[in-house]
Amino acid sequence: MKLQLQITPIKDWFPDFAKPLLIAGPCSAESEEQMLDTAKQIAAIYPNSIFRAGIWKPRTRPNAFEGIGNIGLQWMQAVKKETGLLTATEVANAAHVEECLKHGIDILWIGARTTVNPFSVQEIADALKGVDIPIFVKNPIYPDLQLWAGALERINNSGIKKIAAIHRGFNSYDNGPFRNSPKWELAIELKAACPDLPMICDPSHIGGTPELIPYIAQKAMDMEMDGLMIETHRNPKVALSDAKQQVTPAELKSIVSDLKIRSASIESRELQTKLDELRSVIGKLDADLLELLAKRMAISTEIGEYKRDNNITILQVSHWAKLVESSLETANQLGLREDFIKGIYQLIHDESILRQTDVMNQK
Ligand code: PEP
Ligand code: MN
Repeated sequence: MKLQLQITPIKDWFPDFAKPLLIAGPCSAESEEQMLDTAKQIAAIYPNSIFRAGIWKPRTRPNAFEGIGNIGLQWMQAVKKETGLLTATEVANAAHVEECLKHGIDILWIGARTTVNPFSVQEIADALKGVDIPIFVKNPIYPDLQLWAGALERINNSGIKKIAAIHRGFNSYDNGPFRNSPKWELAIELKAACPDLPMICDPSHIGGTPELIPYIAQKAMDMEMDGLMIETHRNPKVALSDAKQQVTPAELKSIVSDLKIRSASIESRELQTKLDELRSVIGKLDADLLELLAKRMAISTEIGEYKRDNNITILQVSHWAKLVESSLETANQLGLREDFIKGIYQLIHDESILRQTDVMNQK
């Protein structure tokens, strides 16, 4: 994928930038007291963090708490005044942007339900023309990398250069233990397409439960992400939204202080040589894998021709099931994870069927 953005390096946005950039605060602004109490506790632990709170909440069903509205922006101002923390909130339309700018909110983010809609993103981009403010763009709810890239481009095209992506997971058919499946490969692909783009992980919305947050946050750090957005509430149990996933300021402290921030650069020459060696072995093995796949697919095509000439259906389910079963046994003996091998076999099978369908249609 191609993605060209003009980005100011993140260390130039915030004078005290240190990794991870921490964005913490409640899912929703609920009362001035709740905001100030939570913010003061966070500021006491992480004075350089950014305070988040949702003012307008996009809820899946009506009649849920849909956010406190404009009054919450005044509470954000109070937070900033009393704690010195920078403030951030979600915007979903031009009116939200205008209100936030009027109230001096420092950073705005576009939520996952808005990133999916190019009309809304464009409206926000237009409202931001001539404004110099950091904008974070969450990934769209479903796993469509083009939509995420498109939203970043729209914001960048309106002149915003302080721009970052937030990885908050994707809602898919099988989310596994997560509220939103992380699909790390998509975040990696976006970063590979635009290495200058700062990437922030939102383990709260990926995990959906506090127990998963340390694991997800550590993984984000190991993937060289720049920051973390963690929903933090003084009393999560009574939160008006996302009560199940928020942590207390004390829990936030333990999560962040347990993180291991590993270095991305390799200083020792010996280490570099060893890594180069291992990488070159992998390079060779990967080339062998490709060659094997090409051979295997050529045989799929041949089988397709044979089936076509003899009027046999493409898919022979019982044969395939047997093949997968025996391969999984072998994989197990080789110490390969079952899900991993199942996934690869599924892809190979899909491609094989596609080839055979092509062959069938040739006559
Ligand atoms: C949020 O940050 O509270 C939120 C609504 O997130 P998302 O857009 O990722 O669902
Ligand atoms: Mn939330």
